[in-house]
Amino acid sequence: MPDQTPIKSGFVAIVGRPNVGKSTLINAMVGEKVSIVTPVPQTTRNRILGIVNRPDAQVVLMDTPGIHKPLCRLNKAMMGFVRQALEERDLVLFIVDATQKFGKGDEFALEFLKQYAAKTILLLNKIDLMNKLQLLPLMDRYSKLHEFEEIIPISALQGDGIPEVIDGVLKYLPEGPQYFPPEVYTDQPERFLAGEIIREKVIRHTRQELPYVTAVLIDKFEEGETITGIHATIVVEKDSQKPIVIGAGGSMLKQVGTEARRELERLFPPKVFLELYVKVEAHWRDNRAMVAALDYRREG
Ligand code: GDP
Ligand code: MG
Repeated sequence: MPDQTPIKSGFVAIVGRPNVGKSTLINAMVGEKVSIVTPVPQTTRNRILGIVNRPDAQVVLMDTPGIHKPLCRLNKAMMGFVRQALEERDLVLFIVDATQKFGKGDEFALEFLKQYAAKTILLLNKIDLMNKLQLLPLMDRYSKLHEFEEIIPISALQGDGIPEVIDGVLKYLPEGPQYFPPEVYTDQPERFLAGEIIREKVIRHTRQELPYVTAVLIDKFEEGETITGIHATIVVEKDSQKPIVIGAGGSMLKQVGTEARRELERLFPPKVFLELYVKVEAHWRDNRAMVAALDYRREG
């Protein structure tokens, strides 16, 4: 009687400093691209659920913005998501970049985490970049900082240690219900995912000139039988930034648009019509309405 067999299920918060590989880990565990991955820190703004489905388990992963001291209103909202994820979790995966020295930022993240007294598995990521002989002393050092349930070395990028992470997670999850139908791997509204894909392309192409300043608002999202129409506005903070996003003769915007459309067509086949606009909105990161508009859960 398969439907009477209890499954293990629960919510797992993935926390750590910016750029340690949280989004990469979620994508590796889920096997689908649910969270954008970029070399620029602080690109994950909203809570994103990735879901690992197995016949015996359902693991709901919560991606969080990197833990950092909040300075502007957007950052405060971002830290709010981290807190919320920590409050709702059954288990925490605390991820660090094993190639970096444990510094003030990690200490801040760990102290932040300790306030929640959550069961925590420590993941030492990016071991593909290290000499394996350095691992044991590193694990030893971390085990003295906090009582982690387990310490698992991984390479999220190469998929090393991912089965061990999933096994580790299942050990500490309770028996529970199937929270989502098994064919679902994210609860992201499609338009939010669309905005994230566009934002990722903008960041990829303009990161030298425009660190952290872009937001993407989806103005229109129409799913038809044969074509999905998407109108999106790329928001920058200063007049001087607008030409960077547009590029000479519109070349940058065109390239961003083409790459975004290709990826969007995989999500919304067979065809996507994408129209991109660029708008200047001074100090949008301190604008309450803009920050709220970016929070997809408050939509509609
Ligand atoms: P997040 O800010 O914590 O979500 O980090 P991301 O998942 O966006 O990753 C930040 C950067 O680190 C990206 O350039 C990733 O490709 C890279 N990265 C993540 N995991 C690994 C890993 O295991 N090995 C290596 N070499 N790079 C990684
Ligand atoms: Mg991320």
